[in-house]
Parts: sequence; C-alpha cells; structure tokens
Amino acid sequence: MSPVGIFGGTFDPIHYGHLRTAFEMLQALRFDEVRFIPSGDPPHRGRTYASAQLRLEMVAAATAREEHFVVDDRELRRDGPSYTVDTLASIRQEQTDTALGLILGMDAFLGLCSWHRWDEILDLAHIVVAHRPGWRAPDMGPLGELIAEFGTHRVDDLHENTAGRIHIHAVTQLEISSTEIRELVMAGRDPRFLMPDVVRDVIMNSSCYAKQEIQLAEKRKLHGQ
Ligand code: ATP
Repeated sequence: MSPVGIFGGTFDPIHYGHLRTAFEMLQALRFDEVRFIPSGDPPHRGRTYASAQLRLEMVAAATAREEHFVVDDRELRRDGPSYTVDTLASIRQEQTDTALGLILGMDAFLGLCSWHRWDEILDLAHIVVAHRPGWRAPDMGPLGELIAEFGTHRVDDLHENTAGRIHIHAVTQLEISSTEIRELVMAGRDPRFLMPDVVRDVIMNSSCYAKQEIQLAEKRKLHGQ
C-alpha cells in the first residue's frame, strides 16, 4: 500500500498554500491519501483564533472535493496539548504496515528539535518537507545531521520503508499564510482567491476573524482560558 501523508496544522484558516502543497505531495510522492489533522491545543502557538469546530469545518469544506484528501479530527477529540508524536503513535496503532509521511513546511521543520519527543518521530513516520518561500534547508546543527543521515532524494524509499526517511520536496511557492489572512480580514479586506470560496464563506458568515473576535481571543489568552 502507498504511503499516507499526514498534514497537521492549526489551519486558522486553511488556504491554498496548504492545499496546493498537499496536492503536489500527493501526486509527486504517490501518496494513497493526505490526512488533514487540525490541531486541538497547539503546544507552540498558545492559542488559535477561530474555534476548533470552525477550523474543522473550514478544513472539511476545503478538502471535500478531492477524493484523496481526508479529514482526521483525532487531535480535537483528545484532551491536553496536541503533540505530533502522540498523533503519529495513535495512527501507527491503526495502520501498522502503512508508510506514513509527515508533511511539514520548511518553517515547521526548522523548529522540529523543540517538539515534544521529537527524536521518536522518525521511528513512526517519514518526514517530507515542503520548501516554503524564504526558508532554506539546514546544512548544519542537529537538523543538518539528521538530513545527512536519513535524507533521501528517492521517492521509492518512502514506499519501501514505513518510516525513518527525510525527503525535501520543492512545491509551487505560494506566499500565503494564515496570519496574513487573519490580518487582512481584521482590516476589513476580502480574503477572496487566497482560499476556496467555501472557506471564505465560513469566515464571512461566522465573523471569526473580525476585529472584536480577535480581541476576545487575545483576552482569553491573557487570562489563560
Ligand atoms: P500561521 O500564519 O498562523 O502561522 P500557517 O499559514 O503557517 O499559519 P499552519 O496551519 O500553521 O499555517 O501550517 C500548517 C503546515 O502548513 C506547516 O507545516 C506549515 O509550514 C505549512 N504551510 C503553511 N503555509 C504554507 C505555504 N504557503 N506553503 C507551504 N506550506 C505551508
């Protein structure tokens, strides 16, 4: 069976940078499917702006028309911080013989060494890194060493092993970020064409990134709620 791509993120909101990256990975790396996993309580981020329910709704709407995209809400059903290593372990329990490819943008990959039990991740999955605008692959330090030891240019290596390899893959550079989208909406501008219309509809109908909602989210964060 072909590898399954695992794509976690806050998706606050999901946009074409995420979708195009996942689609190019799906095709170029011959993945069986890509699973989008919205994070519940992201340990590195401290907060999200749209509720978990809305982020899930946006991911579901954005991916509904691609049959090889799957939405997985396990992190939203789990209490406590959403550690990737726990998510991978729970998928691995269900799919013992399937190759798993954790999809990360280069910015996320560069922060890998600060992740909870990061050194166990390659035991559970491959890591496939998408080039993102403005970021370079590390050639020294722990990540440089990791790439030297486990890096591969061969897509077949991702099929022949269930975990343990790092593959860096150039994707079409779409300089879109969720942060910029939230700022744009907060400034009263239209995020159209940065994401599927169905996602924009959720944003517009819920006003989740309107100024007062963002201020409320900031306040909740300040009070640790
Ligand atoms: P924010 O601006 O809130 O930090 P983001 O746009 O980076 O959000 P996340 O949900 O945090 O989105 O990202 C999930 C994953 O998608 C990460 O691995 C990130 O590197 C990757 N990613 C995000 N935007 C892009 C993009 N434009 N191109 C390629 N990968 C991306």
